[in-house]
Amino acid sequence: MIKTPERSWLADAIIWDNHACMPLRPDDRFLPQLERCRAAGQTAITLNIGFDLTRFDDNIRVLAHFRNFIDRHSDRYILIRTVEDILAAKRSGKLAICFDLEGTRALGDQLSMVEFFYDLGVRWMLMAYNLNNSVGGGCQDEDRGLTPFGRAVLDEMRRVGMVPCCSHTGWRTAMEVMEHVGGPVIFSHSNCHAVYVHPRNIPDELIKACAATGGVVGINGDSAFLQPDRDLAQEMFRHIDHVVQMVGPDHVGLGLDYVYDMSEFDDFIGAHPDTWPPEKGYGGPVTFLEPERIPAVVDAMVAHGYPQEAVRKIVGANHLRVASAVWK
Ligand SMILES: [Zn+2]
Repeated sequence: MIKTPERSWLADAIIWDNHACMPLRPDDRFLPQLERCRAAGQTAITLNIGFDLTRFDDNIRVLAHFRNFIDRHSDRYILIRTVEDILAAKRSGKLAICFDLEGTRALGDQLSMVEFFYDLGVRWMLMAYNLNNSVGGGCQDEDRGLTPFGRAVLDEMRRVGMVPCCSHTGWRTAMEVMEHVGGPVIFSHSNCHAVYVHPRNIPDELIKACAATGGVVGINGDSAFLQPDRDLAQEMFRHIDHVVQMVGPDHVGLGLDYVYDMSEFDDFIGAHPDTWPPEKGYGGPVTFLEPERIPAVVDAMVAHGYPQEAVRKIVGANHLRVASAVWK
């Protein structure tokens, strides 16, 4: 029988899942799932408010609902404005929450929308969601590279303090983003192509380029991007370890991508085969590593000899470092 490693030392670590998918509906029946994350010991979480297929008015309604819910439950949750809010949440046992946008379509090609979303708590935005858009290429499309408007968006993101992300983005565009930015760029929820071949997983050259910017690759808990039919915690560890062996423990983190309403997720995928081509494996049965199983990922790292300091970085301190460097 395998002995579970002792992990009481984890109690004072910052644990930050940098991408979670609550239902994209302004409905109070749904956000109570946040309590699962707090009860599971997470310090901070980044909630998605929409992606390139969702409508702008829905993005705004969902964002208003999330902010309102957090505000009405301030005994348990903190809306993140600064890095200090995350440290304060840790001290008080609350869950700190910020937001992300998967793709730039919500900007409506209007640069000033970057600051608008930042002011409302959106702390990272990825470039293009699977398909090309006005800033660049998606990973399921013919990627023609970063556009002049894309460069302007990145400049504005840097000015206001929003972290650029290249998950779901085409490989060429991602490389051009990292060459352009001159600061940390993340892959909020992307796994390693060398460990499991899938268009959503990224090649080693992008992982090395991300590390060179000071960024972080957040490992995803979606079974579609791991080895299906195996233990997800062990598979996540294999991707974490691939990054660690290549660029060290400073450039990998968690971006679980956990979906709280699978029927909404299945409806999106079924309605948009161009964004999620069935022949690329989308639309099949998938499972996700639950937030309650982050300790199992920690156990895998400890079992493989990772020092506590490296584990602390991977479960949250690396995300905190990027936030400290980029947020205003
Ligand atoms: Zn995603």
